[in-house]
Amino acid sequence: MGLDVKWAQEWLRLSAKAMSEHRVELIELDRPIGDSDHGENMDRGFQAVLQKLDESPPETAGAALKAAAMALMSKVGGAAGPLYGTAYLRAATSLGRATEIDADALAAALIAARDGIVARGKAEVGDKTMIDAWTPAVDAAMNAASTGQEPSAVLAAAAEAAEAGAKSTDPLVARKGRASYLGDRSAGHRDPGAASTALLLRAAAEAAAG
Ligand code: ADP
Ligand code: MG
Ligand code: MG
Repeated sequence: MGLDVKWAQEWLRLSAKAMSEHRVELIELDRPIGDSDHGENMDRGFQAVLQKLDESPPETAGAALKAAAMALMSKVGGAAGPLYGTAYLRAATSLGRATEIDADALAAALIAARDGIVARGKAEVGDKTMIDAWTPAVDAAMNAASTGQEPSAVLAAAAEAAEAGAKSTDPLVARKGRASYLGDRSAGHRDPGAASTALLLRAAAEAAAG
């Protein structure tokens, strides 16, 4: 069964719920290796996303993600705002005006999102950023789609891989973003952006599971 605008709206609604519920946790992750604002930034951004969706209900999943991108770019600030904004905008462009999203289109949208973050932030896997969650998630999604799995299974695979990817940042030394200023002292802490990515992709999977 393909995904539609209702899925996209539910994804964004569950994302806002997750950012609000994990606000303090994301702030605590950003404390030792950043400036303690990631949870605040993401919660504020996704509240703005919800407001935007309420004001003008989208007709397609692409339109919903584009609206989210605009809200995130204008409200999140910091490093994560433009990065997530670009991700959602690229995903929206990839989906176009499709009303029914199959597994291949979904995987393509996730690839586009990840590629947008890389184009903007130039991070590679192992740099201790959100890319350490996104890239394994995209790989798992592509693999699931290419073996004929449903969109909901594609997202479940992506979420699981993103969670493992976020954990994988714990021992890493940061080479991008604010945490890189700490050098070796950034090791031993989970990257907050990788943690929020895992939460957002889990929300996508939950929205698809219905
Ligand atoms: P800031 O660091 O400006 O306060 P946030 O705290 O909201 O912004 O977001 C920090 C997160 O942004 C990091 O945990 C990391 O995952 C991500 N990040 C920072 N720089 C980059 C980059 N160049 N590429 C990918 N992700 C990055
Ligand atoms: Mg920060
Ligand atoms: Mg900041």
